[in-house]
Amino acid sequence: MTDFRSYTAEERASFVAPACEMCGQHRHVRWVAVDGGDPPRWTPRDAGCSNEACTGYRS
Ligand SMILES: [Zn+2]
Repeated sequence: MTDFRSYTAEERASFVAPACEMCGQHRHVRWVAVDGGDPPRWTPRDAGCSNEACTGYRS
């Protein structure tokens, strides 16, 4: 994922997880807090595919 945009708590709540390029299922997102954010902000980090059968799956 090359999107380094940061999100507020409100934006984060309505964030739609990206689809996997390989299988089309949604990918897991891990939220990483941005240092010094006021209000606090988070950046989504790709945490693998949600599909266990996909090569992009990460447990
Ligand atoms: Zn996948």
